[in-house]
Amino acid sequence: DLSYRLWNATYGPLYAPVSDKLPPNPHLDVAHRDIPGPAGQMLTAVNPSYMTRLVQEFALAEFGHRGRITSLLPIRPENRPDPWEERALRRIEGGAAEVSEVAELEGVAHLRLMRPMVTAEACLRCHAAQGYHLGDIRGGLSVSIPLAPYQPIFQSRRRSLLMGHLFFVGAGLLGLGAATIHLRRQMLARERAERELQRAKDAAERANLLKSQFLANMSHEIRTPMNGVIGMIGLARDLASHPEQVEMLKLADQSATSLLTLLNDILDLSRIEADKLKIEHQPFDPRALIQQILAEFTPLLREKNLHCACEIDPALAPRLLGDSFRVRQVLVNLLGNAVKFTDQGGLSLCVEKGARKNAQGVELVRFAVKDSGIGIAEDKLSELFQLFSQVDGSLTRRHGGSGLGLAISRKLVELMGGYMDVESRPGEGSTFTFFLPLPEA
Ligand code: ADP
Repeated sequence: DLSYRLWNATYGPLYAPVSDKLPPNPHLDVAHRDIPGPAGQMLTAVNPSYMTRLVQEFALAEFGHRGRITSLLPIRPENRPDPWEERALRRIEGGAAEVSEVAELEGVAHLRLMRPMVTAEACLRCHAAQGYHLGDIRGGLSVSIPLAPYQPIFQSRRRSLLMGHLFFVGAGLLGLGAATIHLRRQMLARERAERELQRAKDAAERANLLKSQFLANMSHEIRTPMNGVIGMIGLARDLASHPEQVEMLKLADQSATSLLTLLNDILDLSRIEADKLKIEHQPFDPRALIQQILAEFTPLLREKNLHCACEIDPALAPRLLGDSFRVRQVLVNLLGNAVKFTDQGGLSLCVEKGARKNAQGVELVRFAVKDSGIGIAEDKLSELFQLFSQVDGSLTRRHGGSGLGLAISRKLVELMGGYMDVESRPGEGSTFTFFLPLPEA
């Protein structure tokens, strides 16, 4: 409509023969509205507005397309806008370039379009005198097309869209199914691997237990004849007359004794690992125990020219309930290490009725073995209580030892319900402390 209107305004008016369907336009006020044609018939001028009306009537009759010119201030009452057109015109006044919507017209769905009619240069040729200006919006051109003929197209498009979506949903579900199966297979494989791992772990633990039991039995069996050997060496030393024989028997005795110590360590360790080590709960005299232990160390201390201080808390009960054999074993190990790794100064043993209590409310007795020896580097402290751990291999060659003593001591202390700790600095000595719940007997 806009195109032929513009064409007509630019090159028209158009002259067409007058007929019933094309009477002269009574609203058209121009000089040569009706003129005679070459064959004597009458020709009448068709200007843009008249042409629009004629074409729109034709379009309605031929295609059912409704078109009309409308305005918020109509001159002709039949140009008054319907409610949708009024809304559209207001939006166009507000600056919209066009308004198009699917809306109902007389109860039927239509695609409705509203475009502004803008005054062009060509319009001014006739309408300048009426006060038209270039760019003025003089109402709107409204076209409404019934949607019914297009429904099959929309439906088929909707169908293909639906099919497309269904395809993607189907593909997605298939993918999801495949992923689930894959995941399930992986889970089953992992479960199988975990079961196998557990079986292997159980077998390894069983084998370890058997090994510990075997070790415990073996070291016990070896210990008995070892005691015989040591006993016999002692007797032989008593009988030996030649100094060379005495010296050789002394060395044999030392070797046999350190072998017995090692056997005892291994026996303890395997018993602990096989959960066979029993902790006794018998009354004992802590002061007598300490005295005995220190007496054993006297020759060694004298040999190395080390002094030893002993401090026992007067508040400590005269009799305690616990495993004196194991307390002794731990103390002997700590004192032995203190003597072994100290060349100058001395050591001290301190026993205190502790201020601390364990979770069950039993008072903890504190034992501390302090020395002024070589000390231990901070980064080595954490591995000190591990089995076979020795800080310095060269020292071990000098001092002997298996690296089992501290690991066994800590485990014994823990089996007795206590805990052990160490503080040390290289060159400044070490303090090994352990706390034991030893109630008064
Ligand atoms: P070992 O039979 O080798 O003495 P331990 O488990 O008793 O085994 O000790 C492990 C290591 O801890 C020792 O080899 C030594 O390096 C270090 N150590 C233990 N006690 C002391 C100490 N009082 N001073 C310095 N180093 C120590």
